[in-house]
Amino acid sequence: MNITENRQLQQLIEQNELKIEPVLKKIEQVALFNQKKVLDAFNEIKITDADLGGTNGYGYDDSGRDNLEAVYAQVFKAEDAIVRPQVISGTHAITLALSANLKHGDELIYITGKPYDTLLEVIGVTGNGIGSLIENGVSYKDIALINDEIDIERVLQSITKKTKVIGIQRSKGYSSRKSLTVNQIGEAIQAIKAVHPHIIIFVDNCYGEFTEYREPIEVGADIIAGSLIKNPGGGLCKIGGYIAGSKDLIERVGYRLTAPGIGKEAGASLYSLHEMYQGFFLSPHVVSQSLKGAVFTSAMLQSLYMNTTPKWDEERTDLIQSVIFNDKEKMITFTQAIQMASPINSQYLPMPAYMPGYTDDVIMAAGTFIQGASIELTADGPIRAPYEVYVQGGLTYEHVKLAIIKAIEILIEKKIISL
Ligand SMILES: *Cc1c(COP(=O)(O)O)cnc(C)c1O
Repeated sequence: MNITENRQLQQLIEQNELKIEPVLKKIEQVALFNQKKVLDAFNEIKITDADLGGTNGYGYDDSGRDNLEAVYAQVFKAEDAIVRPQVISGTHAITLALSANLKHGDELIYITGKPYDTLLEVIGVTGNGIGSLIENGVSYKDIALINDEIDIERVLQSITKKTKVIGIQRSKGYSSRKSLTVNQIGEAIQAIKAVHPHIIIFVDNCYGEFTEYREPIEVGADIIAGSLIKNPGGGLCKIGGYIAGSKDLIERVGYRLTAPGIGKEAGASLYSLHEMYQGFFLSPHVVSQSLKGAVFTSAMLQSLYMNTTPKWDEERTDLIQSVIFNDKEKMITFTQAIQMASPINSQYLPMPAYMPGYTDDVIMAAGTFIQGASIELTADGPIRAPYEVYVQGGLTYEHVKLAIIKAIEILIEKKIISL
C-alpha cells in the first residue's frame, strides 16, 4: 500500500524497507526467543484465570500477585522479584532498590557517568536533598564513560572498603552517549566481581527489557529495576514498577516498599493484575514493534541527510532513537508532526516550554493512551544545539511508519527539507 501520494517519497520508503529487512528479521528472532521465555514462565508457574483477579485490603495471600512476581523472576533469571502497582514509576523502583541496600556510611558508585536526571535528586546531587541517599549518610561518586565504554581501570581504582553498591545504567536515557549492551555490562561486572565479589551490582534496566536475548542478571547483575509503563508493561499497564534480583536484596526492597516485617507479604493488587500479566505477555512483541519503528526512523531520516543514533544497522539494547536536526525549526516541526500522528490529543500542538529540572525549554510529543508512557510513540528534546530529539516507543510498527512519513511530508510541505 502506498502511504504517501508523493511518488518520490514512496520510492524512498520502499528502498529503505528493502534495505532494513535483514535487521527487522533479526528483531523478530529476538522477539520469538523472548516470547518463548515469557510463555514458558507462564506455563511452568501455572498461571490460571484466578490469578488475574486481584485482591483488596491488606492483600494477604494474593496468589495472583505472588505468581506474577514468580513469572518476572523466572524471565529475568532472578531468585525473586517485586512487581507492584504501588511502585509508581521507574524512578521509584530504582530508589527502592538503591535505598533498601545502602546504609549510613556506605558508598554508591555509578560507573556509567551521571545517571538519569531524576536519579540525581534521589542520590542528592541536585534538588534540596531531603530524603536523598546523601542526606541519609551514603556517599556517592560517578565515573564517566570513556569512548562510550565503562572505564574499568578507573572503576577498580575508585572502589574502597565503603563501596557497597555499583550502579550501571543500561540505556543512555536522555544523554548523548551510546547505550550499553548486555554484553558490555557483563564484561564490566566480571572484572569487578573478580576482585570484589561482595559488591552489589545494580542495573537500571529501563527501556532495555526484551531488546536482546539476555538480561543483566544473566551476566552477573545482583539486582535490576524498571518501569511498567515502559517495555515490560507491553503498553497495557497503567502504573507499576519492578525490581528483580537475589532473595536477600529483594527482601530488603520489600521491607523498604511496605514496612519492616511486612515486606512482600502484603499490598493489594486491586485491579492491576490482568493488565500486568497480559502486558508482560505482549511485551516481547510490542518491544519488537518499537525497535522496528526505530530502525525505520533511523534509515528514513538518515537518507534525508539527518544525523541519527543508533544508525539503522547498529546493534540495539534499548528503544531510544536520537535524531540530530541541527536546526530549531526542523526539530520543532518534526516533534509537532509526531503529535499530529498520535492516536490521542492529535489536535493539540506541542510548543517548547520550561520544564522543572531542565535549563533549556523542552518540546514533547506525547499523544499516548497512558500518561508519559514511552513504550508508546513519543518524541522529545531540549531546545538547544544540536537540536536533538529522542524518539522512542510505538505499540505497532505500522503506527511508527505512518507517523514518521507524516512528519517527513510536513517538513517537505513547509520546504524545510527536500527530496
Ligand atoms: C525512564 C527512565 C528512568 C526513570 O523512569 P520513570 O518511570 O520516568 O521515573 C530511569 N532510568 C532510565 C534509563 C530511564 O530511561
